[in-house]
Amino acid sequence: MITTTPTAMQEGLQSCETCGLLSRPAPGTDQGRCPRCDEELVFRKTGSLQRTTAYLIAAAVCYIPANLLPVMTTITAGGRESDTIMQGVVLLWSPTGWPLSLIVLFASIMIPSAKIVGLAYLLVSVRRGSVKNNMQRARLYRTVDIIGRWSMVDVFVDTFTVALIQLQPLMSVEPGPGLLFFAAVVVLTMMAVESFDPRLIWDSASSKET
Ligand SMILES: [Zn+2]
Repeated sequence: MITTTPTAMQEGLQSCETCGLLSRPAPGTDQGRCPRCDEELVFRKTGSLQRTTAYLIAAAVCYIPANLLPVMTTITAGGRESDTIMQGVVLLWSPTGWPLSLIVLFASIMIPSAKIVGLAYLLVSVRRGSVKNNMQRARLYRTVDIIGRWSMVDVFVDTFTVALIQLQPLMSVEPGPGLLFFAAVVVLTMMAVESFDPRLIWDSASSKET
């Protein structure tokens, strides 16, 4: 479905990302400041697609060692054992520990991969000038954005797990190199979401009409 509503950009209006006010920039300039909250205004974020692609590729690259390298080393009387995230999920799985095991599985494996796949889909469809499923794609972006705000839950859960294991006697836990890559994935996906301009989703539909 192609929308027939003119966009703010076609009318020469800029929307403020902070307070939502629509305003017209001073004649002769293509960028202005929000008259209400003084936020810097742009029609579209500069280099949005390029920056989002770069952050996303970096996140996808870091995602591999984050899952393959050990995130923690457990030291017990029996010796040292290094575990990856997935091994940690299996290790935590017990009649009492399964809820925590599920939280780690969701927060550390499923949510980061869903964010990467979702953003990659948005990027590819915008680059191809897709006019299909605009509503769904706008909704997908909002979902990824909301999940992104809870990204720190990942790091929190892992810290919590380490703390929990440390409560057991004769056991100590050290962070592994995988944790560093894991934190990098969290930060890079947040930057990718921030760089993406969701208004681009609607641009191909309005440019195909004119
Ligand atoms: Zn404003």
